[in-house]
Amino acid sequence: MQKLFGTNGVRGISNESMTPEMALRLGKAIGTYFQGNIVIATDTRTSNEMLKDSVISALISTGCNVFDAGIAPSPALQYYVKESDADGGVIITASHNPPEFNGIKVVDGDGAELAREKEEEIEKLYFEEKFRAAAWNEIGKVYDMDVLDFYIEGVLSKVDVDKIKEKKFKVVLDCGNGAGCYTMPYIMQQVADVITLNAQPDGNFPGRNPEPTPENIEALMKMVRECKADVGIAYDGDADRAIFVDENGNYIYGDKTLAIMAGYMVEKKGGSIVTPVSTSSCVEEYVKSKGGDVIYTKVGAPIVARKMMEIGATFGGEENGGLIFPEHQYCRDGGMASVAILELMASRDMKISEIVGEVPLYHLTKTKVKCENKEEVMKRMLERVEGRIDTTDGIKIYTEDGWVLIRPSGTEPIIRVYAESKDASKAREMAEKFRKMVEMEAGRA
Ligand code: MG
Repeated sequence: MQKLFGTNGVRGISNESMTPEMALRLGKAIGTYFQGNIVIATDTRTSNEMLKDSVISALISTGCNVFDAGIAPSPALQYYVKESDADGGVIITASHNPPEFNGIKVVDGDGAELAREKEEEIEKLYFEEKFRAAAWNEIGKVYDMDVLDFYIEGVLSKVDVDKIKEKKFKVVLDCGNGAGCYTMPYIMQQVADVITLNAQPDGNFPGRNPEPTPENIEALMKMVRECKADVGIAYDGDADRAIFVDENGNYIYGDKTLAIMAGYMVEKKGGSIVTPVSTSSCVEEYVKSKGGDVIYTKVGAPIVARKMMEIGATFGGEENGGLIFPEHQYCRDGGMASVAILELMASRDMKISEIVGEVPLYHLTKTKVKCENKEEVMKRMLERVEGRIDTTDGIKIYTEDGWVLIRPSGTEPIIRVYAESKDASKAREMAEKFRKMVEMEAGRA
């Protein structure tokens, strides 16, 4: 069957694949599937109104009622859907993608991103165009609503506000002109002294690209140093991911953030952490040193979230800065990550660089092989590799020096090869060895 949804909903370039016509058709499929009350929100992109109006029109044509939350971070919309009796949610966002992109993401009644089986049902409706058309007197209604204050209070209620306030932290926030502009300064002002950067919502993203990479947040790193702040925080376009900068202005990679937060959570509550197989072993090593264990899943935040629900995990997340706090909700939440990191700093009474310094250092080498016949090549690779193998997602081979992950790309004719080791030259060696093996098989296929 044809596929429409990728790992994070439907994505594409505005007015190329993401057109009003496409949004209308997808909206009808979503409405036909849910037949209920749907909450909708967008990030700050230029094509948001265009796509949202199409989706709303489609939803009410199928008889759904729509609650329009305007611009809101994805986790704010998801938190409202989870806590209210809404049947589902739609978010118009392209998350961390460049400004010309946009996307449509569907949220289930529990606030988590839709499970793959349910996405398939919507895809089927979409491709077969089997849409419900409500009778004239059953056409849905549209209501304006606010989810922001509810979210801000929800986030703050999950941490020890007084303990954080006592420390009088100085925090620089880089909202990246995205949806975080509507919540993050207001949340953080309640617990710390706040300086903001790029805090005016603007779909042209004049401040920086929405993805909080080291190159994109240089201004934040500089600002943290110059203001002598305790920490800097940058968000992606829909503020479900948060990236931190230490008091010296150094970028903290997401695997380190995941490790320190996971360690803090298992120290407090014990239990298991869930993360994809591609995550650095620094997380497992650190979590084990704090008395917890790690369960691995396929790559993708919704898959991590569903696994967390299934096993009642203590905490989970991805190494891109997407952290999932089950007491709050089962999705990545940049707001929750921000206050939780401050609580961690307050409770350990340490600088963030010192806490991050406890996490063991691993080196990752990433490479890839062009490959048209990915499935065949992966099958042959599985026959060739030996030792401790994990096939949760692609092939993960544990070696004496670390591990190698061979994984076909979901969208491109590429097989990726990642190798991780405590020894940087070993990581490079392993990546090269397995890249050559994949290349050879790709040549034969
Ligand atoms: Mg995002």
